[in-house]
Amino acid sequence: MSFATLKELLDPALEGHYAVGAFNVNNLEWLQAIVQAAEEERAPLILQASENALAYMGLRNFAALARIAAEESTVPIAIHLDHGKSFQTAMRALREGFTSIMIDTSALPYDQNVEQTRKAVEAAGALGLAVEAELGKIGTTAEMEENPALYTDPQEAKDFIDRTGAYALAASVGSAHGVYKAEPRLDFDRMRRMRALLPQTPLVLHGGSGIPDEQIRQAIAIGVAKINVNTENQVAFTRKLREVLAADAKVYDPRKVLGPGRDAIVEAVREKMRLFGTSGKA
Ligand SMILES: [Zn+2]
Repeated sequence: MSFATLKELLDPALEGHYAVGAFNVNNLEWLQAIVQAAEEERAPLILQASENALAYMGLRNFAALARIAAEESTVPIAIHLDHGKSFQTAMRALREGFTSIMIDTSALPYDQNVEQTRKAVEAAGALGLAVEAELGKIGTTAEMEENPALYTDPQEAKDFIDRTGAYALAASVGSAHGVYKAEPRLDFDRMRRMRALLPQTPLVLHGGSGIPDEQIRQAIAIGVAKINVNTENQVAFTRKLREVLAADAKVYDPRKVLGPGRDAIVEAVREKMRLFGTSGKA
């Protein structure tokens, strides 16, 4: 049995200059693939699901499957709520055995974001769990391109962490959700300023798909300790499914279609774990 909390995974990552991959789950095959990759790489792992994915799978279905995966795994696994938009969802997740939550009330005015985040931090803290929170806006690739006005202000980040007690910070530093049209350029200077002001706070990089490897390495060197990956797995999975369906117009067994998609995710996730430096850290 190998459950881990967010802090148990990210404190050593921050100290050891690597980042733990947080991979989004969309169905059973994804969960199996991601856990298999972690086992093969001997890598600590964060399994996470967004509110939309939880609505699709059923929060309790995901929680039960993830719990069994963690129980049977030989590597430490945290079960994490990605972008929890409300206190209610965050509490439901904790009740179902998640070991980590993100509360994302970043769309609210600053003071309300502080208030909502602090409330979640207190509730999770009562269970001995830590919270990831968001400040600034991490939007879609279309919204974020060339729009530094949405990026996180380092001084405000310091105030936010001091007032909320959030453990990890999802900061807006040039990454985005979805497929990048132009090559993203992370704002390393901004990240360094945050790191200097908040030396104990692991930074979380959202939209980790499609960022050039060199920029990922640099971000980790500065203090990014959790990197979220979803889009690249989506692309790998769907590409494989198209291939299988195109190659055999008569195939109807879902296992023969989804199985190869699952294998494609294993490979994609293993590659990320090696890039993030988590391989061999379990
Ligand atoms: Zn995100």
